[in-house]
Amino acid sequence: MTHVIFDLCIRDGACAEVCPVECIVPGEPEEEWPWFYIDPDTCIDCGACVPECPVDAIRPEEDLKIEFPQYVAAIELNAEYFRSGPGYPK
Ligand code: SF4
Ligand code: SF4
Repeated sequence: MTHVIFDLCIRDGACAEVCPVECIVPGEPEEEWPWFYIDPDTCIDCGACVPECPVDAIRPEEDLKIEFPQYVAAIELNAEYFRSGPGYPK
């Protein structure tokens, strides 16, 4: 499983500062990737990022499907950001 950032993200970066495996990155370019994204292959589901988010925009993947079905596309967007790029900053 993984945690997922979805559409409500305001890009303040608070989640990325606490992630113990540094798998949260700001989407670039911002016009195409307007949120932060979580690498699903690296996330260890520790949950540390969730209480840091001021707008409650992070959920475990399975919870997102139930609580915010209107935002399930974010699951694939998070994965795609790392699978096909841009991915981690160079
Ligand atoms: S759940 Fe833990 S490992 Fe996964 S993105 Fe959040 S802080 Fe990082
Ligand atoms: S803490 Fe929330 S609003 Fe801030 S970058 Fe992370 S997901 Fe986006």
